[in-house]
Amino acid sequence: MADALALRADLVRADKEFLWHPYTPMGRYVAEVDPLVIERAEGARLFDVDGRSYLDANSSWWVATLGHNHPRLVAALARQAARLCHVSLAGVTHEPAARLAEELVSIAPRGLTKVFYSDDGSTAVEVALKLALQFWHNERRPERRRFVALDGAFHGETIGAASLGGVEVFRKPFAGVLLECIFVPPPGPSEASEAEGYARAFEALERLLREGSETIAAVVLEPLVQGATGMRMYDAAYLRHARSLCDRYDVLLVIDEVFTGYGRTGAMWACASAGVSPDIMCVAKGFTGGMLPMAATLASGRVYDAFLGPPEKAFYYGHSFCGNPLGAAIAREVLAIFREENILERAVPKVDKIARAFREMNAIAGVVRSRSLGMIGALDLSPGAGYLGELGWRVFAEARKRGAYLRPLGDVVYVAPPLTIADGELDLLLGIVEESVRAALGA
Ligand SMILES: *Cc1c(COP(=O)(O)O)cnc(C)c1O
Repeated sequence: MADALALRADLVRADKEFLWHPYTPMGRYVAEVDPLVIERAEGARLFDVDGRSYLDANSSWWVATLGHNHPRLVAALARQAARLCHVSLAGVTHEPAARLAEELVSIAPRGLTKVFYSDDGSTAVEVALKLALQFWHNERRPERRRFVALDGAFHGETIGAASLGGVEVFRKPFAGVLLECIFVPPPGPSEASEAEGYARAFEALERLLREGSETIAAVVLEPLVQGATGMRMYDAAYLRHARSLCDRYDVLLVIDEVFTGYGRTGAMWACASAGVSPDIMCVAKGFTGGMLPMAATLASGRVYDAFLGPPEKAFYYGHSFCGNPLGAAIAREVLAIFREENILERAVPKVDKIARAFREMNAIAGVVRSRSLGMIGALDLSPGAGYLGELGWRVFAEARKRGAYLRPLGDVVYVAPPLTIADGELDLLLGIVEESVRAALGA
């Protein structure tokens, strides 16, 4: 134990001296934060070198949909590593990349027939944006250059993907260099009524496309839930409306399933559950069950065909690790596990548990609004629930004492656990959320 504590202290020293953390005000981190020092993980649990364990309430930033170190994924990784770790996809192909593409298309929303690999959610979106821009270039409509996204959208961090980000603190430092993106109000409750909020959102998108479609390349949406801005959920009717407007005005529809894909909302793809097929779809995060960074952008035949013909029409884009055999082998095993272990059906009772728990927490004094969708439950601790809110962090501290890693989005407290979390652990987690919210609010 003394050794473990000495190791822990030394790792924290090295970390604070040399490491720059993502999304972190570093001055405050170095002065005040005692980080978890994770040594291993299994299922829904993270284990600190000090021997404590924590339920991973957000599947480690939404990636470990099948739990940590799933034995089948670990075995698939080892098998593939022994044969081929990497080779470029330049004039070369290999079994994991080719078979995975076929398997993805077979379960993708109808109409998506081609797969382009990249590294993570941001690059999957970057590929989608470049495909959309070059699609119109190849179609001799180069004036279609602008994108449309929702207020509060999050589509990743590269300059292109960040251009579509509607979370103000993430955007502000890059004003002036981002791509042109027009933001429309999300279909959420307005002050007056929910119905009015939807009507306003429909109308805004319709007006924009009616008046501006000639200069718009694509509408880009997170389907059914806007994750990073605070788990804002909206009705499938909006997606269907967006699809029909894009059809009417001949604008591409890009659906970003990076967070929602792989069963997070209860169905494999949120857009398909709404009856919507996009022209381009981005998948990452759950793609490898959180084992390795890898992603894909799926495209329709119409999009693909626009890149055929003379060489200058080709998509001159790629990354060193495009189609990485390790990632692809794991991604195939992820699909096999979904199929063979009935992951979606077996999550249904857990979906119900999350819904019930968050409905009940709505009654806690100080909770502004709670909601759930599939394997996501969320509640707001302040009316605006901004990303820089502090209340969520009080809940985080309380949950940590009780054995859960419950990282908030400002004043939004949420869970998005592995779909495979055991019933007993889910009960435990939901109990910790409730106790921690009460403790933090003094309710
Ligand atoms: C996380 C996320 C991204 C970015 O993915 P990274 O792997 O972090 O680059 C893009 N879109 C959505 C909807 C996301 O939730």
